[in-house]
Amino acid sequence: MPPNRDIPTPERLLRQEVLSLHAYHVQPSPGMVKLDAMENPYLLPDHLRAEIARVVSSAAINRYPDADAQRLKTNIKAISALPSGMDILLGNGSDEIIQLLAMAVAKPGATLMSVEPSFVMYKMISAFTGMKYVGVPLTENFELDMPMMLDAVKRHQPALIFLAYPNNPTGNLFDAAGIEQIIKVSNGLVVVDEAYYAFASESFLPKLGHFGNLLVMRTFSKLGMAGLRLGFLAGSKVWLEQLEKLRLPYNVGVLPQLVAEILLQHHDVLLQQAEQIKLDRNWLFERLVGTVDVHAYPSEANFILFRLPRAAKVFEGLKQRGVLIKKLDGGHPALADCLRVTVGAAEENELFVKALQESIHQFA
Ligand code: PMP
Repeated sequence: MPPNRDIPTPERLLRQEVLSLHAYHVQPSPGMVKLDAMENPYLLPDHLRAEIARVVSSAAINRYPDADAQRLKTNIKAISALPSGMDILLGNGSDEIIQLLAMAVAKPGATLMSVEPSFVMYKMISAFTGMKYVGVPLTENFELDMPMMLDAVKRHQPALIFLAYPNNPTGNLFDAAGIEQIIKVSNGLVVVDEAYYAFASESFLPKLGHFGNLLVMRTFSKLGMAGLRLGFLAGSKVWLEQLEKLRLPYNVGVLPQLVAEILLQHHDVLLQQAEQIKLDRNWLFERLVGTVDVHAYPSEANFILFRLPRAAKVFEGLKQRGVLIKKLDGGHPALADCLRVTVGAAEENELFVKALQESIHQFA
């Protein structure tokens, strides 16, 4: 090696933003009741699995996928009731779309804004892409703090605002009039992230045509396709045409395209599962509310946030009993003593409630 050569270590070579990041941690879960990641707990009916097997067995995986995923996009549009004139862009999960949007607006000094606590990838991706990040605190009840929001929009002039609707990890829908006000005063793009739309009573999709700077993002992950990795961004062609330039041409593979096409043709099956999850969410909410010392937050998503004394210990107690949920305590200060449980199948929810009661008792 030449004597004066700088040794290419990660510390020397990588951007400071990358070195400072903590990797997104996924808890190992083999053999556990898995209620940590907002997955749909149900398998597909046999006839659909057989259809998928048939189609996959003859798939041309030696070929690149259709770069435009035309058939899949047609299927998505058929079930999504997009306002006229609106189009969609597909992502390898909606995570990829968040990244793509950030890359598109990341001029030097540009700001990405969201609220806190919310989905952690907004902040992480702002770091990946070298954007400034502003996280405006929610009120104590996890609502938008409108004076703070409007002030932050004015002061920081964010190029991109993400609002999760319903919000993760709090589960609530923010006040729609408040969001509209933010869209109106913002000189940047506002993305309403409807990852949990299938479980919610409201949507911004019908409002797409009302605001030139509004985009709506959705994912099929929570509707039973987390393993396929498929999300979409809906909005006017004026924006999507530009954003398409940043989408890697084959970001949705041959198999995800084929399988998602079949599933969307049987969308009713997935919607029925979502209806069941909403019923079970009510059951689970009642159980949590009825548990001494537990404060559960009402949810429009497929998970419930709750707060209780000694949450970190109770979380470990649940794990020892084979139930994995999400520990938020120790992350954002507003989430001290908070845990989040995904609504599972009825038996899983029952196991969770039993394990929760035992763990609370253990650490009382
Ligand atoms: N947005 C929100 C609010 C989420 O909670 C999640 C997943 N936890 C995503 C986007 C990303 O979902 P995916 O990449 O699976 O589409």
